[in-house]
Amino acid sequence: MTDRPILHVVSMSGGKDSTTTALLAIEMHGRENCRFVFADTGNEHEITYEYALEYLPRALDITVDVVRADFSAEFEVKRRNLARIAAGEPESAVYGRRKFKYAWTQEAATRALELLHPTGNPYLDLCMLKGGFPSRKRQFCTQYLKTEPLTEYALERIDEGHAVWSWQGVRIDESESRRTRLQGTGACVKGFEVVGGGLFINRPILRWHVADVFEAHAHAGIKPNPLYLQDMTRVGCMPCINCSKDELSAVARRFPEHIERIAEWERLVSSVCRAESPVSFFHLGTKGHRGQSSTIWSVVDWAKTTRGGRQYNLLADATEPTACSSSYGLCE
Ligand code: SF4
Repeated sequence: MTDRPILHVVSMSGGKDSTTTALLAIEMHGRENCRFVFADTGNEHEITYEYALEYLPRALDITVDVVRADFSAEFEVKRRNLARIAAGEPESAVYGRRKFKYAWTQEAATRALELLHPTGNPYLDLCMLKGGFPSRKRQFCTQYLKTEPLTEYALERIDEGHAVWSWQGVRIDESESRRTRLQGTGACVKGFEVVGGGLFINRPILRWHVADVFEAHAHAGIKPNPLYLQDMTRVGCMPCINCSKDELSAVARRFPEHIERIAEWERLVSSVCRAESPVSFFHLGTKGHRGQSSTIWSVVDWAKTTRGGRQYNLLADATEPTACSSSYGLCE
């Protein structure tokens, strides 16, 4: 397949699937032929950082490299453009004849210039640059914060003279969209892909079920991310833009400081975007929140309701937040 020595690069997220994938890579190829890499979005829970960057390296005797998207160059370009608008140049002179739904005004550009500086947090920096948060339809967070830094990491290893097998911990029974996407042309094709240029993709747990994944942890004597014991069905961003109503409600109940952090981000992003552009971590459409600086707490209020967005589910509110209530039956 290739004359180059093969390096097995496992993308770690701190979740159950990537941990299982790492276990398989080590068992099949030995840790000396593997690299482990974590894409830090800046929007993870501290328990996930501790698990992926401290517990797993200790327990598996591995090093986990960290990649983090850096947008400093993009900030410079955007600041230069905003300075021209703040100085009175029309937006069309800066951005060409593209039509934007919300226009930059001199006043908004001046305000944005005061606050638009890189914070060093990749998620927040990306949203400040985009003037809004990702959505299910425009899921640019995955592309800029995970796919691109991880691909760059793999390409650097290829430049060092390796062929890279990129190990990805995805399972088709995780979601309907994943099932459709990965099985569309036959799962065996998607389980292993030749990308070209020395890069290969390996998805060894494509057909595993969630019980198999936790069994692999138990077999290896590795504890799963503790967040699974705290109502979290997945442990990516905290919260993820794709999280369910129940997950958001659980995040707000157990980790309100993370909701408050997102509220702060909403206020900051709304201060550095076009005037009256709707800025919400969870996209609500454009109706009803134009010009609001933060909406996440009202979404949390909705997430606590049962049906129709009116009645609070008091039973859910009364649940003791420290109770062990894993969605995967890990409590026994
Ligand atoms: S976990 Fe969710 S919010 Fe985070 S990068 Fe992925 S899709 Fe975006």
